[in-house]
Amino acid sequence: MRNVTLIPGDGTGPELTAAMRRVVEASGAKVQWEVVDAGEGVMAKHGTPLPKYVLDSVQKTRVAVKGPITTPIGSGFRSVNVALRKEFDLYANIRPCSYMEGVKTPIKNVNLVIVRENTEDLYAGIEHMIGKDAAESIKIITRAGTERIARSAFEYAVKYGRKKVTIVHKANIMKCTDGLFLETSREIAKAYPQIQCEDRIVDNMAMQLVQKPELYDILLCPNLYGDILSDLCAGLIGGLGVAPGANLGKDCAIFEAIHGSAPKYKGMNKVNPTAVILSAALMLEYIGEQDAYERISKAVRQVIAEGKKVTYDLGGTAGTSDMADEMIRVMTKR
Ligand code: NAD
Repeated sequence: MRNVTLIPGDGTGPELTAAMRRVVEASGAKVQWEVVDAGEGVMAKHGTPLPKYVLDSVQKTRVAVKGPITTPIGSGFRSVNVALRKEFDLYANIRPCSYMEGVKTPIKNVNLVIVRENTEDLYAGIEHMIGKDAAESIKIITRAGTERIARSAFEYAVKYGRKKVTIVHKANIMKCTDGLFLETSREIAKAYPQIQCEDRIVDNMAMQLVQKPELYDILLCPNLYGDILSDLCAGLIGGLGVAPGANLGKDCAIFEAIHGSAPKYKGMNKVNPTAVILSAALMLEYIGEQDAYERISKAVRQVIAEGKKVTYDLGGTAGTSDMADEMIRVMTKR
């Protein structure tokens, strides 16, 4: 049995992760969950949304699946999600986005992976007020930070037989920061002559992704552009309900959906569990449970293709738990 930390999160997180647990169990994966709560719900008791026992658990297991966690807008506590990525130096955010048969989308030729730098850029959280009427945020891009994320993108391409990496930037305007990201990524690309390398300015990239997504393979992005383009790409493949993700560091990883806590649907057994379940499948692949990974991925695709027991966002009326039940039925039927 492999110990894996499970952070259920808040909002719709607990119901989504409960569905995910049942699917992982049915896959036959040898996983022992260590469940630790974080987020809004633990603030009152622990005075922080990220208590030490959460960090201790991830420190020990080195691998976690996380439900979404709410971050107050404007004021209030800082993002638990960003804090976890920083604490464990999970610098590579890998977000695969590919079309699945049965999803209601006019665009079918999407098979992309976003490789997003996860620790620098405007997300370093260095910002302050200048008097009452101005605010300043500092954008950090380093050569070392860019080298390691660029290497992750090219290594991913090699491992999964992908052909092309597109570097996304705004170096025409941010000549220092995005200029450094572009220059450093191009340097790293030289070590991978078998992988095609090109670049796009981020605004043009957004338009191209909507009009010609089939031209793109791996998108190598600094933090902010990667975050925004991930939601755009999720929209191309049927919405946030089906888009998984992984946060990878040197010897630690946290797997979570791209989407947030969708608080307006909390407790309604309504939202799509696919993104969280596919994130857990990526975790299983990471820990070497290849069979379980494949069984879950196949069951998810089958249930969506059949379209009988899918949630509202995929045009169905099934609840979160019904859709998970259907995946389990497909996986366990003889
Ligand atoms: P959100 O992703 O929670 O939801 C936006 C909309 O997307 C929802 O209203 C819903 O229509 C749809 N959606 C999201 N998940 C879905 C699912 N599983 N199935 C079907 N539809 C789904 O984004 P938001 O409303 O901007 O953010 C809510 C909170 O989540 C905020 O506090 C934000 O900071 C936080 N957040 C957390 C994470 C994370 O935990 N990693 C990521 C993004 C946002």
